[in-house]
Amino acid sequence: MSEKGLAVIKIPIGFAGFIFLLAIVFGLTPFSCGPAQAAGTKPPLMTIVLDPGHNPKQPGALGNQGIYEIVYNDNLTAQLADALRAAGFAVLLTRSPSQNIGLEERARIANDFNADLFLAIHHDSAQPQYLEKITHNALPAYQDKMPITGYSIFVSKLNPQFADSYRFAELLGQGMLALGRSPSLHHAENIQGENRELLDTRLGIYRFDDLIVLKKTTVPAVLLEVGVIVDPKDQQYVNDKNNQKAIVGTIVSAVRKYERSRAERH
Ligand SMILES: [Zn+2]
Repeated sequence: MSEKGLAVIKIPIGFAGFIFLLAIVFGLTPFSCGPAQAAGTKPPLMTIVLDPGHNPKQPGALGNQGIYEIVYNDNLTAQLADALRAAGFAVLLTRSPSQNIGLEERARIANDFNADLFLAIHHDSAQPQYLEKITHNALPAYQDKMPITGYSIFVSKLNPQFADSYRFAELLGQGMLALGRSPSLHHAENIQGENRELLDTRLGIYRFDDLIVLKKTTVPAVLLEVGVIVDPKDQQYVNDKNNQKAIVGTIVSAVRKYERSRAERH
């Protein structure tokens, strides 16, 4: 099957073993280099596992429009999966929108699939003392008491591929800055529930060693908080279709740069 054909294969969700078998059948082996790569042949593009954060039973943060985080995560991840496939990458989602899976299982899927990159997509909130309970169209909702905006990127030093994880985090941060976004620095505040070490303040990269999906993955892994859905301005930004397209384009571009940087080092 041609590489072009591979690009449009929709890989079923779940059943890691079945997927792995499919991967072997269709030659979706991880990016490789060295003697195994026949001279003159183009290496296959990377395989990427996307992890839409949370699940229907635990839908994450409640935003200022009365919509749970999972809705934002699933929406953006679906768009990102389409864009990455269109760019020729093999993409697997850890779960479908209706599926309930645990954190360790998400990491296991990436490991079983021997992905080249694991990217978890989340939307952010703030600590309870910074939030007020409101109603939006009769729906319960939360809103920040002062503006808390921006994106955040997390990596774990317990991930065995920390250097590659960090390289992708940098490319992602540079892309988000170029998009006109600012990093949210509220996770570094010295209060309960936060107090995360900033590895790069300009790019908004935090160290969070014990995040299960980052420390249990044996492949390069990064978590992106796209924006803060309890903040009216940020919610409006991440909910806008054109902005979503721009964010997706930025992530795809970061993945491309990451792939090139890996190829150069091999
Ligand atoms: Zn989340």
